Amino acid sequence: MFSANRSTRKEAFESKYLFFQNNQKEFDRILDELVKVRHQMALKLGYPSYIELGYHRMHRTNLTPADYKKYRMQVKEVGVPLVNNLRHKQQERLKVEKLKYYDEHVFFQTPAPKPKGDFQQILKNYQIVFAELSPETSSFYNEIMSKDNIDVQSRPNKFGGAFATYIGEEVAPYMYCNFNGSSNDVRVFAHEAGHAFQFYMTRDKNIHEYIIPYDSAELFSFTMERLVWPWMELFFGSEVERYKYEHLTQGLMYMPIASVVDEFEHYLYEFPNATALQRKQQWRKLESEYMPEKDYDQNEFLEQGMGFYEYSHIFTTPFYFIDYDLAHFCSLQMWKKQQIDGVPPINSFISMCKSGGSLSFQDLLVSANLNSPFEEDSLPTILEEVQAWLNNMDHQKF
Ligand SMILES: [Zn+2]
Repeated sequence: MFSANRSTRKEAFESKYLFFQNNQKEFDRILDELVKVRHQMALKLGYPSYIELGYHRMHRTNLTPADYKKYRMQVKEVGVPLVNNLRHKQQERLKVEKLKYYDEHVFFQTPAPKPKGDFQQILKNYQIVFAELSPETSSFYNEIMSKDNIDVQSRPNKFGGAFATYIGEEVAPYMYCNFNGSSNDVRVFAHEAGHAFQFYMTRDKNIHEYIIPYDSAELFSFTMERLVWPWMELFFGSEVERYKYEHLTQGLMYMPIASVVDEFEHYLYEFPNATALQRKQQWRKLESEYMPEKDYDQNEFLEQGMGFYEYSHIFTTPFYFIDYDLAHFCSLQMWKKQQIDGVPPINSFISMCKSGGSLSFQDLLVSANLNSPFEEDSLPTILEEVQAWLNNMDHQKF
């Protein structure tokens, strides 16, 4: 799917979606059962629908669906045109007449930036990063490495993906990745380290919900991805600018799909008796609202609105998906501070980590002097800053 060869990419995507197509009835049935059982749970507990219960299960103590709607409106107004513009630039770089769905993951015509050296080199580089970032990150990293509470290399039969958790009564942070030699190894490692470091900073509180704050978990991981930027040259050498451009662009491009999934999930639980066909039509409608530039190249399966099968969050963890984007929005504000000051805003980050789940997402933002994504006009302000940075880059040279 990431091949430089366009027809290879197209074939790879088609075979991926063929799997979903062949199992269409099963996916529809599973989703329908999940929606209905969740709806029943909500009624039994006295909630009007699963939306309210789902918010509580996300530990959202002072946010309502109206807040999320306000954020999605901002995405529609300013996020969508910005992504449209970035896609247009991507199409120019790839020198294709029109960007198709199978082109979206390829950012440059030349091979994507890759980290130097093997996985051990990445771990050694991060030793330097965390030692220089702060005494707290340094002792965190020393502990995780000395206890070998880390598993980053891919191997046959290893479970895919990446996550961070903690082990045992001593609440030892643990990190799991699947390095594959791409730039994503570096980004994902920082991401999981952001989670693990926050657990490390709250472990003395000894309350699970404080250590793993469900409503703000991604705030720490996304911010860490940005805090390590000043050291990216260690990993990418002369390709560092390309990496940063890719990292920033990818984050922004996530905005529309996050809102599509979120609005779709609200639809599912507002209308639990909708048919499979109505759900597909709703998905396609939302896609065209938030991603008007999307070109499915006559792939009938995707045109019929079945692209949502691949988003496992819709099935397993309703309402979580948009939190990645809200966290991204906040991490951009930290990034902006870093651009202005020339050094990472590590102190306010550490104090947020120490608060962990003892504060709500909103209160964490207040404590770090960050704007809330639920305030009107908060998104345009930060997007303007990011756009200015991107415009300064000669993207064609990438
Ligand atoms: Zn995460």
